[in-house]
Amino acid sequence: MLAPRSQIASRPPALAGMRATKGRQAVLAALEEASDHPTAEDLLMRARKADPALSLSSVYRILKEFHDRGMVRRHVFTQGRAVWELAQRALHAHLIDVRTGEIVELPEADLVRTYQAAAEALGYRLRDVRLELYGERIDPGHAQRPHGQP
Ligand SMILES: [Zn+2]
Repeated sequence: MLAPRSQIASRPPALAGMRATKGRQAVLAALEEASDHPTAEDLLMRARKADPALSLSSVYRILKEFHDRGMVRRHVFTQGRAVWELAQRALHAHLIDVRTGEIVELPEADLVRTYQAAAEALGYRLRDVRLELYGERIDPGHAQRPHGQP
């Protein structure tokens, strides 16, 4: 689950400094449109709509280029598969449902803000936070409410 658009810190970095190849544009668009935490294989399936010639090795190469430029965050949760999200999204914690593997974002987690403030006090700007919480639903029928609402 992704945070609402208002949680997004800024506009995507686009392809500043990179040649806007069809493949890069397709992968970037797939990341921008993602409402989950896609794997490289997920991104390949989605990006192929815009670039049918795209291969998995190209997606990995493009993701590495984006990662080297700080455009994306890579996470490896317990499933052992890397998932990706755009780095311009506000820092957030991830709660992983140990039964279903569902990844729930906690976009306003106080702990992330606390770490951000602590890092800034030491003269650092956080680029990434790897705060992973693992849990299971207490009541599977419990309706999920947006953070901060009663
Ligand atoms: Zn996330």
